Amino acid sequence: MTNRILHSRIQETDNLESNRQREAKFMSDKEKAIIVHGLTRIFGELVAADNISFEVEEGESFGLVGANGAGKTTTLMMLATMLNPTSGSASICGCSILNNRDGVRNSIGIVFEKMSLDIQLTGRENLDFHARMYHLPKKFRQKRIDEVLELAGLKDKADTIVKDYSGGMQRRLEIARSMLTRPRVLLLDEPTVGLDVQTRRFMWDHVKELNRQQGVTVLLATHYIEEADYLCDRIGIIDKGQIITIDTPQALKDSIGKSVVSLKLHNGPQEDAARLFERLPWVNKLRKNDGFLELSLGTEDVNLADIAKLAQENGFAISSIRLRKPSLEDVYLHYVGKQFEKEDI
Ligand code: ATP
Repeated sequence: MTNRILHSRIQETDNLESNRQREAKFMSDKEKAIIVHGLTRIFGELVAADNISFEVEEGESFGLVGANGAGKTTTLMMLATMLNPTSGSASICGCSILNNRDGVRNSIGIVFEKMSLDIQLTGRENLDFHARMYHLPKKFRQKRIDEVLELAGLKDKADTIVKDYSGGMQRRLEIARSMLTRPRVLLLDEPTVGLDVQTRRFMWDHVKELNRQQGVTVLLATHYIEEADYLCDRIGIIDKGQIITIDTPQALKDSIGKSVVSLKLHNGPQEDAARLFERLPWVNKLRKNDGFLELSLGTEDVNLADIAKLAQENGFAISSIRLRKPSLEDVYLHYVGKQFEKEDI
């Protein structure tokens, strides 16, 4: 084999290899609907989003969970190209938020925390206005409006003015509007805030259907921890602009222990009892929550009678004690260390 042939074979192999690498990279990037890298936004002295990084697979439902002011909206607004980051980068469906805003905007649907419908118009008119703004071709417009009305269960109410819609119907119309352009990624900012329990659950099922049936990737910002637990494949807990931890709801629960004992004292100072329990080797973490002492345990093998006996021997009477699996709220308390805002869920 001459040097020339050998050289050309090596080059072919190199080309093949780099093609394969490029293809593999393309495939792995392709599977990521959202890539966020070091995204930061500073307002004056305040770092509202602080070096945020996470990735969301195509078809995944990802939750950003945090209290009011944690930085969720700021993050979503940057991803929606409506707010410039101070530093960092992100891409949606392969389009950079920094230099391909049109690409990003063509890939996303967004539902804002605050209602943004024209309540003097009918549902259909609201959708028609939006469809025109997005230059949806006339011949597809009516068909697509009918489709999203159907999807949102609002066909019957299409010609009613939005002022006469219930809160839940208005939220569903907003989601329907965001779906007009068939987005691959849906950004939902507190989509159920202010809704009653029943309507909220109905909304959850609607979002789940869009995600599971229609294959839409969902990025949900919420302070309702149950909402994220129900809807999300993975959750990132955000506090003071920083992502504290990311994992599946189950893995997050597993990460803080195997069980939780909640007990209420009948007498004796809570601090003294806390000190007593804190010393036990199988207590991972102890916290006070709403008058209860909550012990996160590294074992499922718990005898509540033994705990009550130990308390009694040390001069504490227990008025209530129960054993349960860790919840996502326990996870939040564990990582963020303060009570999650209580809501009537
Ligand atoms: P909420 O659900 O209450 O909106 P959040 O987690 O979405 O909470 P952000 O709205 O992102 O939080 O706000 C994060 C922090 O940034 C807050 O302290 C907020 O006051 C501040 N902030 C947001 N926007 C601005 C702005 N345009 N100028 C100054 N500060 C801002």
